[in-house]
Amino acid sequence: MGAQLNSRERRSERRIATSVLVVGTGGSGLRAAIEVAERGVDVLAVGKRPKQDAHTSLAAGGINAALGTVDPEDTWQQHAADTLKESYLLANPHTVQLVAEGAARGIEDLERYGMQFAREADGSISQRFFGAHTFRRTAFAGDYTGLEIQRTLVNRAAQLDIPVLDTVYITKLLVRDNVIFGAYGFDLEDGTRYVIHADAVILAAGGHNRIWRRTSSRRDENTGDSFRLAVEAGGRLRDPELVQFHPSGLIEPENAAGTLVSEAARGEGGILLNGLGERFMSRYDPERLELSTRDRVALAAYTEIKEGRGTANGGVWLDVSQLPREIIMSRLPRVYQTLLELQLLDITKSPIEVAPTAHYSMGGVWVRPEDHSTDVEGLYAIGEASSGLHGANRLGGNSLIELLVFGRIVGQAAVAYSAGLDAHARSSEALDAARMEVDACLTDGPENVRSLQRALRDTMTEHAGVVRDEAGLSQGLAELDAIEARIPNVGVHPDIAGFQDLAHAFDLKSAAVAARATLEAARERRETRGCHNRSDYPELDPSLQVNLVWSGPGRVAREAVPPIPDEIAALMREVPTAGKLVE
Ligand SMILES: Cc1cc2nc3c(=O)[nH]c(=O)nc-3n(C[C@H](O)[C@H](O)[C@H](O)COP(=O)(O)OP(=O)(O)OC[C@H]3O[C@@H](n4cnc5c(N)ncnc54)[C@H](O)[C@@H]3O)c2cc1C
Repeated sequence: MGAQLNSRERRSERRIATSVLVVGTGGSGLRAAIEVAERGVDVLAVGKRPKQDAHTSLAAGGINAALGTVDPEDTWQQHAADTLKESYLLANPHTVQLVAEGAARGIEDLERYGMQFAREADGSISQRFFGAHTFRRTAFAGDYTGLEIQRTLVNRAAQLDIPVLDTVYITKLLVRDNVIFGAYGFDLEDGTRYVIHADAVILAAGGHNRIWRRTSSRRDENTGDSFRLAVEAGGRLRDPELVQFHPSGLIEPENAAGTLVSEAARGEGGILLNGLGERFMSRYDPERLELSTRDRVALAAYTEIKEGRGTANGGVWLDVSQLPREIIMSRLPRVYQTLLELQLLDITKSPIEVAPTAHYSMGGVWVRPEDHSTDVEGLYAIGEASSGLHGANRLGGNSLIELLVFGRIVGQAAVAYSAGLDAHARSSEALDAARMEVDACLTDGPENVRSLQRALRDTMTEHAGVVRDEAGLSQGLAELDAIEARIPNVGVHPDIAGFQDLAHAFDLKSAAVAARATLEAARERRETRGCHNRSDYPELDPSLQVNLVWSGPGRVAREAVPPIPDEIAALMREVPTAGKLVE
């Protein structure tokens, strides 16, 4: 098959060999790469967007560790208990324990790399309440914690001379006999193909929340690449149906739909009104009103819109205009600025139109808790790409600490795996198949990739949004069948602006895999649990306290969740959440 490549394509193929390849340069990918490099082992990190601007840089609120600087009675055991409770008993207790116990070390690592945390007068790291935490355990840097973490990791990677390629799109993981040997991809600017041979590959390519119409991810982020890459390599997905929806994403402009309006807007006294001007939270949570929990507020807003009481554009109003101007300017400056920039809207005078927004993939690639290895030898997954920590509801601030903790653990595991590898077997068939897949995409087909992406997002929004039911999910699968049938006819036209069209075609392929996994697992989870609301099964079903593992179309298996250690179970209790808002 290699003979089918023409000479021009051969000339533009670049070959690289490294010990460990990291796919993704967000917080998890960079942290893992740093661990590998600090151990003196070759590593290469690649991303499809600039490392300074990875999705991690959007994170605002903070990062969790039971440091006890503000509340000395806090412990890692309590952090683990809060995480398990919030997960509706679907998180893996071993994963949770590793993160909670390793969190302080994760923060120390960031300090060692030069991160500037907010501090108390005595110099200790400040910690604040965030979501359903028993104690104040969220460390932060202003309202730009993710940006500061990303900046710190980018600097540390530069100090260690870690090679980072910012414009390489990985299209396929290279596998022989269920053993990884590298990855294939292309350069987004000039189309150069990349063959990267590696002993171990760490998949840190994010989640799949961009496959809904409104999402807090930007255009090319979280399109489900990790899901497709892992499954096509021989991996599986755990709980892809468990997706966290944030209550307040912008509706307009279209190209920024889903941009979050911080929950601080409600925390500071913002009120929610439906299209009829009613303060609808009084119907759903009369005591806490807008200070209710994220899942309840998202569900309430969704219900108002669905039942025809939304705004003309299909949203609800979030109004802070009744607050004193100085409060808005001092407590909500980013919200003020964002609305002015995106909509020329002055929030001190006018309400903001918002709707629930896909925000975070709590499920992801199936991994073993201890080292995040997958079903494929030498392949690891971390960060939002992976699964095990969050179950059916993510505790605010746990995502960022997961990147740090598992970045270290997985970096070490990949180094050990590479060192222990006797021989590095490659497969020319696998490589040729990867080449051919890209070649096959470069056609002049009649279908427009953007309209298919839109159709897929509409399907997911309509049938797999905040509230789901059997008929809708089946309808969603039928619509997906029709979309998938059109994907091979997408026309891809590289031009002087680069190979973005080709990237969109692969984003679409990944989105289709992620959508199928989500719809099928959501149909199988016939209960309401955490973020997953089934209107036809409104109660939690104890027999479904299992993880759903997807291994390809039509294949969803149940996996038991290991028992919670008594020491942790004894600490699990209802935690008041009023006034503790989460991002
Ligand atoms: C507005 C907002 C606020 C948030 N606030 C918080 C918070 O306060 N606390 C908290 O804990 N969490 C928060 N989160 C969640 C958290 O930011 C993310 O879950 C986390 O940063 C994900 O990091 P990651 O390393 O897994 O992936 P990402 O940062 O998404 O990085 C993924 C990387 O993979 C690359 N990639 C993807 N596909 C490919 C491909 N095919 N080929 C090559 N490269 C590829 C991308 O270019 C990128 O480099 C927030 C999220 C948002 C959107």
